[in-house]
Amino acid sequence: MDHFVYADHAATTRIRPEVLEAMMPFLTEHYGNPSSMYEMSDVTEMAILDARRTVAELIGAKPNEIIFTSCGSESDNMALWGILRKKKGHLITTKIEHHAVLHTAEALEKEGYAVTYLDVDKDGLVAPEALEAAIRPDTTLISIMTANNEIGTVEPIRELAAVAKKHKITFHTDAVQAVGHIPIDVNELGVDMLSASGHKFGAPKGIGFLYVRGGVLPLPLIYGGGQERGKRAGTENIAFIVGLAKALELAVAEMEETNRKLTRMRDRLIDGILRDIPYCRLNGSRDKRLPGNVNVSIEFIEGEALLLKLDMAGICASSGSACTTGSLDPSHVLLAIGLTHEVAHGSLRITLGGDNTDEDVDYILEKLPGIVKYLRDMSPVWEDALKNGQAKEYELCTAIK
Ligand SMILES: *Cc1c(COP(=O)(O)O)cnc(C)c1O
Repeated sequence: MDHFVYADHAATTRIRPEVLEAMMPFLTEHYGNPSSMYEMSDVTEMAILDARRTVAELIGAKPNEIIFTSCGSESDNMALWGILRKKKGHLITTKIEHHAVLHTAEALEKEGYAVTYLDVDKDGLVAPEALEAAIRPDTTLISIMTANNEIGTVEPIRELAAVAKKHKITFHTDAVQAVGHIPIDVNELGVDMLSASGHKFGAPKGIGFLYVRGGVLPLPLIYGGGQERGKRAGTENIAFIVGLAKALELAVAEMEETNRKLTRMRDRLIDGILRDIPYCRLNGSRDKRLPGNVNVSIEFIEGEALLLKLDMAGICASSGSACTTGSLDPSHVLLAIGLTHEVAHGSLRITLGGDNTDEDVDYILEKLPGIVKYLRDMSPVWEDALKNGQAKEYELCTAIK
């Protein structure tokens, strides 16, 4: 293969070498249980204290407001179950949440809790007025994601959280796509709880955290020992906690420069795709968008076939959320922004990361239009579209192989 491009960073990222290096001593010589009394466990106890302090500082929180969890999904579950089981009431969330929130909300409904799923506009944005209108006297929790994992839309969290605060309702945000990618300060945002996951920003899979503002007291999901101040039992995953802190430190330090580069590459991809592929549209907001996210719907083709052809060309991308891969249901996010089932089926998500290069962008722009043309030429749907005048035959305009 002459070129390999990993462009699925919203699904997961590679562990950074510096992160692995920071973790290694805690996978080898420092294995003491942080709760034990002997000197050997002081090292691990200190490492967790340090990591907690680092993570807290990087999101504007206090160390005792950080609860380490096993993943973003656990953080979301803890926020939703933890508050609702305690305060028994109504939940407001949105139609475009990650399944970690959406399926949790559905499970809560089955347990008898009332849930409202807010609509979004054509760009995937939630309106603060719509949130305020959905509030009931028994609303106890609002959960709205900071940035969408499929279409990259960044929500007006500060405005949304202000609505919650005005009505004295706890506000949670799934910031898994945002932490380590765009500036996050829990006080500036005004959120009460915030979920994050290490593997979306260069730490290993299997470690996350939930920020919980002092005074907000969700019930635990996991009972046992007194770890994480009794909020989340289980002997600490020290190496992964250390890795998460290191990865966040690096991501935040490099964020400005990385995002300048990502935004430039992202816009070049979007412009190039829209220029060279007819019957194609951009999904999500053009400007309120994660720096590395490209999501387009390409009419008259199947997203799955497109992914296979891209894979053969050495390009890893996604047709929507990784969780829906393997099922033929179109993405709930694309339906929520108003796409038809047909158009949603032909969607492609390319998510760039700090290790992508301009050559990667060139390569995608060189391969993609030809692959789309090839698939359309074989497709009965395209043939029908030509016959009934929905589409016109076209030639590839750039030097495409
Ligand atoms: C990846 C992701 C999750 C789940 O995180 P895991 O650590 O994989 O459980 C939750 N929410 C969003 C928005 C995500 O992108």
